[in-house]
Amino acid sequence: MNRHIVVLGGGLTGLSSAFHLSRRFPESFITLIEKTSRFGGWISSERVQVRDEDGRSAEILLESGPRTLRPNAKSVLELINILGLKDSVITTPVTSSAAKNRYLQIPETQGLITLPNSLTSVFSPPMRTMLLPHVLQEPVKRGNRPTGVTDESVDSFMSRRFGPIFARTFGSALVHGIYAADSRQLSVRAAFPSLWEMEDRGWGSVVRGALRSKPKKSQGDYDVGDIPEMMEGVSVYSFKDGMGTLPGALVEHLQNQSNVELLRDSPISSFGVVDGGQMEIRLADGQTINPTHIVSALPLPVLQNLLYPNSSLPYLTVNPSSSVVVLNLVFSQRQHSLHPSGFGYLVPRPPSGYSLDNPGILGTVFDSCALSAQDSNATNFTKMTVMLGGPHPITVSHTNIDTVLKHLSVHLTGPDDYLKVMPEPILVRTRHHVDCIPTPTPGHLDRMKDLKNALATGIWAGRLEVIGAGVRGVSLGDCVESGKRAGESFIP
Ligand SMILES: Cc1cc2nc3c(=O)[nH]c(=O)nc-3n(C[C@H](O)[C@H](O)[C@H](O)COP(=O)(O)OP(=O)(O)OC[C@H]3O[C@@H](n4cnc5c(N)ncnc54)[C@H](O)[C@@H]3O)c2cc1C
Repeated sequence: MNRHIVVLGGGLTGLSSAFHLSRRFPESFITLIEKTSRFGGWISSERVQVRDEDGRSAEILLESGPRTLRPNAKSVLELINILGLKDSVITTPVTSSAAKNRYLQIPETQGLITLPNSLTSVFSPPMRTMLLPHVLQEPVKRGNRPTGVTDESVDSFMSRRFGPIFARTFGSALVHGIYAADSRQLSVRAAFPSLWEMEDRGWGSVVRGALRSKPKKSQGDYDVGDIPEMMEGVSVYSFKDGMGTLPGALVEHLQNQSNVELLRDSPISSFGVVDGGQMEIRLADGQTINPTHIVSALPLPVLQNLLYPNSSLPYLTVNPSSSVVVLNLVFSQRQHSLHPSGFGYLVPRPPSGYSLDNPGILGTVFDSCALSAQDSNATNFTKMTVMLGGPHPITVSHTNIDTVLKHLSVHLTGPDDYLKVMPEPILVRTRHHVDCIPTPTPGHLDRMKDLKNALATGIWAGRLEVIGAGVRGVSLGDCVESGKRAGESFIP
């Protein structure tokens, strides 16, 4: 059957869907519709020229959205292979200081503490007291998952197994780094399914479960060529010209496919099923499209707003989303004079909770250390990215550069006294990302099963799929993977 499949939303999920649909259904016609003039969604890489007071200049790459990928996402390795991006990849080896050194900044204290990166480092202070007792006690603690509980928050899970202080210090920091969310709201099964499985495998203990070998999962079918060999010993990676390389290459590829049409600057104003059972998409310019199948790669609350009243779907607005302020900073100093060598640091939830009195900083990435190959002639410059907001209520005063520098001075002044006062940066780039990362709350996986059932039956009858960061996982790997699976549940 010759289908006309329309993909809604040209972020990475939508681009990956169009790419895989055009290969899976070569006889079908694919239309990808994007609201803005640019594909890629939250991915945004920009190269800028900077100059210091002595006239030395450098080219610096700024990321205001995602910046690193993990090599375990096979679906991204597949894109790198098929799109011929191998030579653009830059990697951070597991042996590098950027991979080994990650830090925590404990609120209301000064300086950073190093997270353990080896078994021996767990026994050194301060981890010997902060981490070790909780981890050693966990395997001998009785199983304590309440009967009938099928999901809970990350904080509740970690508090149950490792105690509330561990959960607040390590769990909340981890969640700030990935979801920019409150660990007391985030579903452990949606965000960290392996933790839940370890507890099952270890008869109630996460540590025992981690030590038992896990059943092998099917690796799936990925055309990865020799890219996995290239990724051996790699902690994280990106591209020489930043994450924008990925959507850029996808767009270039799709433009050359005879069965694909890309519509940009084309906001969808509404869509649904009309009398007679036909599906209809209306664009803001008045155009109407009647496809045979639709893949929505839109954020779920956006989808809810676009659906005709008779075509509504369950659970699209149950989960909240985090808003984040991203501050790119470039200093005309060498990095070792500003911060220790490493990937960066995360700041856990303050003991008193989230309030306007806190700095509102979720964490800082030491970009120059992690992916320096993205910049040219930049040895005399240091690039950092500060993330603020998420569960912290923040105002303009929190993102004011002088306020941020004051807090960075406290964070980056440690026993080695990097600097007492942060210097003025030569470049400050501030981006406010509203509702950019969804927070799947407990019960998310069951709700998404119900949503899938609703799509397979009734007026949609297997002709609409809903995918993207709000459904299956927020990492770029999850988004590309959900695009690879697009069309799997279509009913002709
Ligand atoms: C600051 C930040 C840092 C991150 N860091 C990382 C990282 O380092 N590593 C990682 O793996 N992940 C990271 N993530 C997560 C990851 O970037 C996102 O989850 C992912 O990019 C989401 O892609 P998506 O295509 O599902 O959604 P989106 O990128 O939100 O795409 C949705 C698209 O739909 C379009 N759209 C909306 N309304 C309409 C309409 N009415 N009509 C037509 N089109 C419409 C939008 O313009 C957009 O292009 C980060 C996210 C953020 C915000």
